[in-house]
Amino acid sequence: MSKKEEDVMELARRRGFIWAAFEIYGGASGFFDYGPLGTALKKKIETLWREFYTLGEGFYEIETTTLGIRPIFEASGHLECFMDKMVECKSCRGLFRADHVGERCPDCGGELSGPQDFNLMFKTRIGAVSDDKARSEAFLRPETAQGMFVNFPRLLRFHRNKLPFGIIQVGRAYRNEISPRQGIIRLREFTLAEAEVFVLPHEKSKHPRFHEVESVTMRLKPNYMDEELETTVKDAVERKIITHEYLGYHMARVQQFLEKIGIPLAKLRFRQHERDEMAHYAEDCWDAEFLSERFGWVEIVGVADRGDYDLRAHSLKAKADMSIPVTASKSEKMEEESRSLSVFPHVIEPSYGIDRIIYALLESSFHKEEVRGEVRRVLRLKTHVAPVEVAVLPLLNREPLVNKAREVFQMLRRHRIFAEFDASGSIGRRYRRQDEIGTPFCITIDYETLENDTVTIRDRDSMKQVRVSISELPAKLSCVCESIFA
Ligand code: AMP
Repeated sequence: MSKKEEDVMELARRRGFIWAAFEIYGGASGFFDYGPLGTALKKKIETLWREFYTLGEGFYEIETTTLGIRPIFEASGHLECFMDKMVECKSCRGLFRADHVGERCPDCGGELSGPQDFNLMFKTRIGAVSDDKARSEAFLRPETAQGMFVNFPRLLRFHRNKLPFGIIQVGRAYRNEISPRQGIIRLREFTLAEAEVFVLPHEKSKHPRFHEVESVTMRLKPNYMDEELETTVKDAVERKIITHEYLGYHMARVQQFLEKIGIPLAKLRFRQHERDEMAHYAEDCWDAEFLSERFGWVEIVGVADRGDYDLRAHSLKAKADMSIPVTASKSEKMEEESRSLSVFPHVIEPSYGIDRIIYALLESSFHKEEVRGEVRRVLRLKTHVAPVEVAVLPLLNREPLVNKAREVFQMLRRHRIFAEFDASGSIGRRYRRQDEIGTPFCITIDYETLENDTVTIRDRDSMKQVRVSISELPAKLSCVCESIFA
């Protein structure tokens, strides 16, 4: 473990962000719980994400079951293809992902077995024992996407049979990872935030809002090049590095979202999957990767062109035709389906792993520095994701300062600003406690407050203080509630 990850995870545990699940029973790898501050941070990111796609893109959100019946995953290809190769150590019986180990067991040096396929879905059963596998065998969903595909006929009707439209979903996904050893980077239960954008195939080449993102500069690693290149989305689409505007538009939007919540652009790139690496459903796929000090490049968002794979497969399996009639003039423009008057919509899918994004934010915002001979740990989180927005601190734990501070604290909460009250320990120590959890502002109530109703606001990053009157506080702090969807 690198020192940085150790420091970050130690802080995350100690200050109530994230810790191993079932800790009192010794834990189980691949399962983590979010504590009070971690949950607050996660909810803020999820809310901003929802706003980004609902208010920003005009998409609707749905909520579908986390359990799916067997035919869904037969059609989606997950039963047959969602596999990793597994090897077993002949001496210690340890199990490993074949692509994560060399020739010998990393734990005991023993000999490894040949690779075997291992399906990553968790299987369960619905109701009492039954012979009807199709109805009684169920799987925890490995992605939220299938819930949006199997509901396509209803969603299309909801959109008055008009394409394109986008649907989003945020929720738990489950993957029985063979041997997860990377903290919250590789979980067996995690949160996905996915958008499925349904678009007619001949309309992928032009996105109506492409001009809004065309000058966004991205760092790209195409699969046919050894080097990375930095260029605008417009240039990448024109040179066919990115195959069409729809994909380019959504990759640029992913970058904009990540940047706005605080992922440093210097640690972000888009890597195109190698042909043999592509998921079974994907025509093309670019991963937004974060450069971790501990794990190297880590995929945090996948942006895939799933083509018509899923709708076609479910149409066949469920005998529910999900193709769309198109007019002759439209179908003339199409290459493949020029003779057909009915086509399956294609799907562009940005798929965000929220837990990995949280790790990336914690790692990149964590700083340890020496201030006046003492260690200062600070999380430089963006104001709009910080779990505690403001701390209210009486200079000393004494009346009437405490009483006045409580009044300010209540007033801020009435203004929907999430404030924390802390009166214990020296003021320096309390500032450091807040720095450590990323609180952007500390308000201090001192003796001058009692004379003229003014307080100091201390900025976490510059550690500078300004004095303002209490009545001005809500307006001054309103930036903490800033929305980022635009
Ligand atoms: P995928 O469908 O494999 O492209 O996954 C979509 C996103 O989910 C990835 O970009 C990751 O951020 C996240 N993800 C995938 N597998 C895991 C896992 N085992 N633990 C945590 N996050 C994951």
